[in-house]
Amino acid sequence: MNFCPRCGTKLSDIIIDNSCVKQCNNCMYIDWNNWIYISAVVVAYNNHNEVIMVKLKGKEKGKITFPGGYRNIGETLEQAAVREFYEETGIKINHLDLYKTYTKDEQRLVWIVYKTKIKDPIVFCDNDEVSEILFVSKRNPIDSKDFRGFLTEKLYLDIINELS
Ligand SMILES: [Zn+2]
Repeated sequence: MNFCPRCGTKLSDIIIDNSCVKQCNNCMYIDWNNWIYISAVVVAYNNHNEVIMVKLKGKEKGKITFPGGYRNIGETLEQAAVREFYEETGIKINHLDLYKTYTKDEQRLVWIVYKTKIKDPIVFCDNDEVSEILFVSKRNPIDSKDFRGFLTEKLYLDIINELS
């Protein structure tokens, strides 16, 4: 950002807490340069305590991650989690528990991760984004070369270590 969004004055560089940020010398607005994209992600357990992961279609064909995606403006994070989960699996969820957050600065990305439980029978519905859902456990692990990215792998390791 080069100009103050509040008063339009040109912003100046200043150092705060060892990072270079921009400040408006007129109204003292600070551009912290720390904006992020937020993605709502769901870890869903079935009755056998297995976790649902999704195998992607399209550009990232074959890559495996957890269901989820970006929040749309106007949605709560929970609504985004429910919507994305439904779009990618065809399964409706209602109860969500906040689990953890994960950060990847290079992509300015934060994952807000929820947990939920799904009752049998679980019926996957074919869609544009996902080719199949996988039921993951210690006995049915995912090969690390198939992970979509760093945050998928991090969350996966946290979850798999919690499974009995
Ligand atoms: Zn200003």
